[in-house]
Amino acid sequence: MKEVNEVIEELLFYGRKHLDLNDLDEVYLRNLLLHRLNCSEPFMGKIDEDKISSLTVADSLIEDLNEAIKTRDGEVSPLLNVEILGLLTPMPSFVADKVNRLEKEEHGKGLDYLFNLEIANNYIQKTAIDKNIYFKKDFGDNFVEVTINLSKPEKKNSDIAKLLTKEVKEKYPKCLLCLENLGYSGRSDHPARGNIRIVPMTLNNEKWFLQYSPYAYFDHHAIVINYSHHNMVINHDTFKKLLEFVNLYPTFFVGSNADLPIVGGSILNHEHYQGGLHLLPVFYSKDRKVYYKDKDIKISLLNWYNTVIRIESENLDKVVQAASKIFDTWKDYDDETCDILSHSGETRHSTITPIARKIGDLYQLNLILRNNRTSEKYPDGIFHAHPEYFHIKQEGIGLIEAMGLFILPPRLKREMGYVEEVLTSDNSLESFLEKYPDLVKHAEMVKELRAKAQKKLSTVEAKEYIDEYLAETCRNILMNTAVFKDDENGRAGIDRFMKKVGE
Ligand SMILES: [Zn+2]
Repeated sequence: MKEVNEVIEELLFYGRKHLDLNDLDEVYLRNLLLHRLNCSEPFMGKIDEDKISSLTVADSLIEDLNEAIKTRDGEVSPLLNVEILGLLTPMPSFVADKVNRLEKEEHGKGLDYLFNLEIANNYIQKTAIDKNIYFKKDFGDNFVEVTINLSKPEKKNSDIAKLLTKEVKEKYPKCLLCLENLGYSGRSDHPARGNIRIVPMTLNNEKWFLQYSPYAYFDHHAIVINYSHHNMVINHDTFKKLLEFVNLYPTFFVGSNADLPIVGGSILNHEHYQGGLHLLPVFYSKDRKVYYKDKDIKISLLNWYNTVIRIESENLDKVVQAASKIFDTWKDYDDETCDILSHSGETRHSTITPIARKIGDLYQLNLILRNNRTSEKYPDGIFHAHPEYFHIKQEGIGLIEAMGLFILPPRLKREMGYVEEVLTSDNSLESFLEKYPDLVKHAEMVKELRAKAQKKLSTVEAKEYIDEYLAETCRNILMNTAVFKDDENGRAGIDRFMKKVGE
């Protein structure tokens, strides 16, 4: 068993190796940590430097620290870990300056530095993220990616809408995304953020900053956030801000969730974008039809599962102009033959999910047309996952999923285990339903897969059948979200819409 002051020495050595801690600050921090953790003097023995050098995350050191404090004091605050790792991480201004300096040397280098620093200081929950389930499925024309996220809780559309309208009492920090979280010590209903570091930037003359997502869904999953706490909004400036971002950080894509519930993300009350290094499936999608092309600009419809218009040009302003025209037309566009009504009375239903990328000198903006209207038949949304898929996914289809990377709820890990158990058994489905009440909602799925298999499956086969079913369901959900379907009626519909844009 280690003493608290021995773990302090290990943490300081870890800081030198992995968190940019230099000699002078080490002396200072030693005293700070000794005081904070109630130790009168430093540990003078030898620590295992080789072992600490080879660590990639701080988990084992944090465990040792908790154990040492618990043994000595009887209890340990769950918020302490973040505070200590925050102290070991350089100050926010140092990190921001270093990111900018490295980014000037080579695009992507600064963002890499921040990413690795945030893994090393446990802000990015790498150990939890590595446990997530991931697979991809190629359908020939396109592919989808599926993750079962075991590190983040699931939210329903109704809860998200409530958040937007809820009377918010004066509180601090105002929300999870606000800048004032930088260094916040946390409480039972709000995470500690002592170890978060950010990169400030200017987009369209507004102050913004980038931080990484602690529960990354994909490589270098970042959140780009307005300094000011106000609701999500999609307007002409959004297009400009997204394109300016990829101009500053061309190794990243960036997109905005829509500004309406059902078709948006889980946080509607603070303007923010999401981006990262990973190329999502929609980026690989080819043109289905080119609607306009001259020497400066191309506007096309993608051969993707939902309705995506792609604009490409080396001229940023021309992309903004074209996107604004499409958005303005779409906002008020009605087409009853395709079930598209832009408004119910004063309530707006139509919006856009825009995503920007830079490829060499070329700006690319992908506009996913969205509509959140509900009907008697589809009370959760006409262009939302349909009820037959709710057993897999019921939450809103946000930006990342609309682009082909699905984040499925953690409950599925357990529930798909039950499905696997049935598929690898000779017993009747009914005999399992009593044992596993959660299996009831997947009964149709089991019947379908059993009919397809025509035999008892091995564990490996059952897993393949289940993964394929999940991927096909995700693709079908994407088709549900298509405002213009890929059939005769829908193709005529998008032609009429694009003609209207051109008028
Ligand atoms: Zn906020």
